[in-house]
Amino acid sequence: MSNLAYKIDIIVIGGGQAGLSSAYHLHQMGLQGGKGYLVLDKSPRPGGAWQFRWPSLTMKTINRLHDLPGMGFAEVLDPGQTEVRAAEAVPAYFEAYEQRFQLPVYRPVTVRVVCRRGDRFRVETDQETFSARGIINATGTWDAPQIPYYPGRELFRGRQMHTHDYRTADAFAGKRVLIVGAGISALQMLDEISRVTEVIWVTRRPPEFRAGDFTPEDGRAAVAIVEERVRQGLIPGSVVSVTGLPMTPAIRAMRERGVLNRLPMFSEITPTGVRWADGREEAVDVILWATGFRSALDHLAPLDLREPNGGIVMAGRLATQVAKDPRVHLVGYGPSASTIGANRAGGAAAQELARTLGLTPARP
Ligand SMILES: Cc1cc2nc3c(=O)[nH]c(=O)nc-3n(C[C@H](O)[C@H](O)[C@H](O)COP(=O)(O)OP(=O)(O)OC[C@H]3O[C@@H](n4cnc5c(N)ncnc54)[C@H](O)[C@@H]3O)c2cc1C
Repeated sequence: MSNLAYKIDIIVIGGGQAGLSSAYHLHQMGLQGGKGYLVLDKSPRPGGAWQFRWPSLTMKTINRLHDLPGMGFAEVLDPGQTEVRAAEAVPAYFEAYEQRFQLPVYRPVTVRVVCRRGDRFRVETDQETFSARGIINATGTWDAPQIPYYPGRELFRGRQMHTHDYRTADAFAGKRVLIVGAGISALQMLDEISRVTEVIWVTRRPPEFRAGDFTPEDGRAAVAIVEERVRQGLIPGSVVSVTGLPMTPAIRAMRERGVLNRLPMFSEITPTGVRWADGREEAVDVILWATGFRSALDHLAPLDLREPNGGIVMAGRLATQVAKDPRVHLVGYGPSASTIGANRAGGAAAQELARTLGLTPARP
């Protein structure tokens, strides 16, 4: 790797909702794209992780996509077209957005490692090396699927896969499938796969279904809980663990079809299936881990941002600033791990980081 590095004030790592929102605000503040700031994105196309989501995830079945700042989704797609695939619609919107604001996004560029060099950061990628004064990290979670360890996992002769690898229910026809997890993705896959084959559903805790609509106040309360956790340096935890699962019409219909038969977690994996503590066994062909994702932050390891418990102490107006090093912001992490949260956090991170670095924006 060359010692020569392109010098930039702020590097945004990741070009999903969080990275684009941050870039928009840096642009609005008058920072010069390509020198004052730039975005490095590993994905082949605009769209962040949305471009990789399974085909049956449509604009109707996602929770809700909040508009990026400054340009509405409706400018690209009629919001009434709810049957369109999220993996097509959202990337089209992000692409138009990048063009509208001429955001300097370089892709595909994977950031391999970030380390300190004097009062700057050295950002090593699979292509060039960059030198930055500040970092806004917006790398999401899609690249860090989480699978808990259960004894015997390595002995299983069937197929193990994660939400990350799910494409279509038809691929499971004729197979016996076990789904692990109590989140929204687990339920969507249970709904789809149970229409083509037999499915066993296990969760660690009984899932908590919320009666009634999820109000904006509920949203704010959930975000406040996660924000408090990261300010204390705890691992953020998933949003569903805070909000519970909405009892949507789709979930009600699943209950009526008799597929919401949750079993407790098994205690071990056998070569042919799973076994519970009481000795009961089930043979399965596929174990589908819908067990969530963690933040994709491995490239920041040399910065030593984590506490011994694995959490990161966060500070700043919307808890995007890393307390140990205020020149690093994490957007799309913890309380901002949603499309609306990423929007707001991008603005806060851009403003606070520019202030920390003493950059004088040309425009207010
Ligand atoms: C199945 C599913 C459905 C969801 N539905 C909703 C919903 O309906 N509403 C909602 O608000 N939220 C939803 N979420 C959460 C939502 O996707 C996120 O909060 C938001 O879109 C994430 O944006 P992001 O920019 O943080 O991450 P991403 O969209 O993951 O973007 C991160 C980008 O960073 C890039 N990157 C990663 N590592 C590197 C690296 N080392 N170097 C360079 N680039 C890198 C990635 O390639 C990617 O392009 C959903 C999540 C999942 C998994």
